[in-house]
Amino acid sequence: MLSVQPDTKPKGCAGCNRKIKDRYLLKALDKYWHEDCLKCACCDCRLGEVGSTLYTKANLILCRRDYLSI
Ligand SMILES: [Zn+2]
Ligand SMILES: [Zn+2]
Repeated sequence: MLSVQPDTKPKGCAGCNRKIKDRYLLKALDKYWHEDCLKCACCDCRLGEVGSTLYTKANLILCRRDYLSI
């Protein structure tokens, strides 16, 4: 049996759990993030920059450099 949930909840940031009112709402891993909250778990660099790519491994969000070195 399928259950479909309407997407009516306000978007909360997966990083800080606060509502996102920013103009730049980021969606990654099916979650929403503030631009400042989407950071590499390893080196803390911001991944919300335009054009940057994020990678995931073992539920960690990583930048390309750390993804390749872990
Ligand atoms: Zn946040
Ligand atoms: Zn990193």
